[in-house]
Amino acid sequence: MPRNLVELSSLAAVEALRTDSVVVLPTGAIEHHGPHLPLSTDFLVAEESAKAAVDLAAANGVNAWLLPGLAYTKSDEHHWAPGTVWLSWETLMQTIVEIGESIAQTPCTRLVFYNGHGGNVALLQVACRELRRRFGLQTFLIGGQMPANGGAKSGETEFGLGIHGGHVETSVVLHLRPELVDMSLAVRSVPEHLLDYEYVGFGKPVSFGWVSRDFAASGVIGDPTTATAEFGRAHFENNVAQAAAALAEIARFTPTAPQKRIGFSAG
Ligand SMILES: [Zn+2]
Repeated sequence: MPRNLVELSSLAAVEALRTDSVVVLPTGAIEHHGPHLPLSTDFLVAEESAKAAVDLAAANGVNAWLLPGLAYTKSDEHHWAPGTVWLSWETLMQTIVEIGESIAQTPCTRLVFYNGHGGNVALLQVACRELRRRFGLQTFLIGGQMPANGGAKSGETEFGLGIHGGHVETSVVLHLRPELVDMSLAVRSVPEHLLDYEYVGFGKPVSFGWVSRDFAASGVIGDPTTATAEFGRAHFENNVAQAAAALAEIARFTPTAPQKRIGFSAG
């Protein structure tokens, strides 16, 4: 059974959706990803991952549905690069709030953002609360990487700094759409000088505002030269399997503590 919600009629959608339904909105990006990867990298990865996770969750009995992905999002850290197509935070927030308002008109109460672009995370976390408060939706964000299942989470030559166009992303696109990758143009660009800072940096106690050419002219932050389709397939399949399990948990998630049973107490 196809899991694309928009391939149903309005009437069929209302019949298909229940309070334990999970509706998944992929959020990608159209942005510069170095000379070796397509502009659509984050959109491609978000849509393919979300579609595979929804299909797997549905096969396991979850009432999961996929929405068409949001391609244009908050890519202003790559605003300087031709081909990047980005929305301001105000426009994207308003767009997401109005999508949420529309979903709240259906019987579904659970909306999941399946995000493929790090620059969207902070905004989507704020949006999750907006939609919870304004429309009563239960909102969730699947973003970034799921825990690694045996395999490495990033390239050995990246020192944890492979966040854009590096080993992982390049490997996944090599797996999904190898014809879109030109490995002859892949160049390592790892801002190793950031390792000298104790407090300020990626994943450190103090975060900082940045645009991608702050680090190097290539706009790449990572090492794509080590990427392989084999690593990409393993990474993709691990993420999808864990995301499908997460969708099953989301379908039964309730933040309210269960009512204590009133009964006879001993003594
Ligand atoms: Zn990316």
